[in-house]
Amino acid sequence: MHIALLSRNRNLYSTKRLIEAAEQRGHTVRVIDTLRCYMNIASHHPTIHYRGEQLEPFDAVIPRIGASVTFYGTAVLRQFEMMGTYVLNDSVGITRSRDKLRSLQLLSRKGLGLPITGFAHSPDDIPDLIKMVKGAPLVIKLLEGTQGIGVVLAETQQAAESVIQAFMGLNANIMVQEYIKEARGADLRCFVVGDKVVAAMKRQAAEGEFRSNLHRGGSASSIRITPEERSTAIRAAKAMGLQVAGVDLLRSNHGPVIMEVNSSPGLQGIETSTGKDVAGMIIDHIARNAAPVKKAPPRP
Ligand code: ADP
Ligand code: GLU
Repeated sequence: MHIALLSRNRNLYSTKRLIEAAEQRGHTVRVIDTLRCYMNIASHHPTIHYRGEQLEPFDAVIPRIGASVTFYGTAVLRQFEMMGTYVLNDSVGITRSRDKLRSLQLLSRKGLGLPITGFAHSPDDIPDLIKMVKGAPLVIKLLEGTQGIGVVLAETQQAAESVIQAFMGLNANIMVQEYIKEARGADLRCFVVGDKVVAAMKRQAAEGEFRSNLHRGGSASSIRITPEERSTAIRAAKAMGLQVAGVDLLRSNHGPVIMEVNSSPGLQGIETSTGKDVAGMIIDHIARNAAPVKKAPPRP
């Protein structure tokens, strides 16, 4: 296969590993800087141009679209979809995953476990919103935050009210969530490929921190997950329409609850802590699912 890897940086661990795994299996990979793609969308034959040339046909596209370039990145990906190219995760799935509220609404419709979560616009509704999630301590989240930035633990009713007021005053979209104290600063990252969890790690927050993100100083270790956690992760990825997803779960008193579903999950933490060839499993999944392009593509 000839694979396009949409990535802004070929030196990232995840990018390097995907190239390595594809080449080991006899495929060719071209790394394409998403922001340098441009296209004529009114043309009868959808095409993508790149640095002055029309892009060659690809058998598959692996999108690694950073949160800060979601809008343009998904537009480029959509153009590949219009051309009939197999995409590992599609533009709709990625767009859904970037909006925490939209994601939770979809997941709740499928009856998946979630923390009690509230959403409101008017400051007048703050007291009731807090009551809805069973009072303080509670967690306040910016809808479009990543890497734990924009996730705040409010320990008291008063702190919760003033932080929510402040965010609303800045016109930030937020949601308010019951605090899953029993998770004790740990979450589970379940790495889904196709209809399987191929690897799982536990991330433990640093001392004195409740957010377990590795970017916030959390540490990762391999973990055995329960059948219920496994099926929750698989159903979550499916509800989002993602073939590859990093599903983050907390172990709560009422079973596994979903924190978020990541559509460009990093490979470094999961491969290092589990010793598994996750990149290889992603490439194998593509090989099983992408239909080969009709004509042999010209190799660059
Ligand atoms: P981000 O997308 O920025 O990573 P998350 O919603 O995943 O944001 O939250 C970051 C981390 O904060 C989670 O991995 C978890 O460790 C902690 N956390 C978030 N929400 C809760 C909650 N409701 N209860 C307990 N811990 C939480
Ligand atoms: N930092 C992560 C890694 O290299 C991935 C980056 C991303 O997910 O965009 O594993």
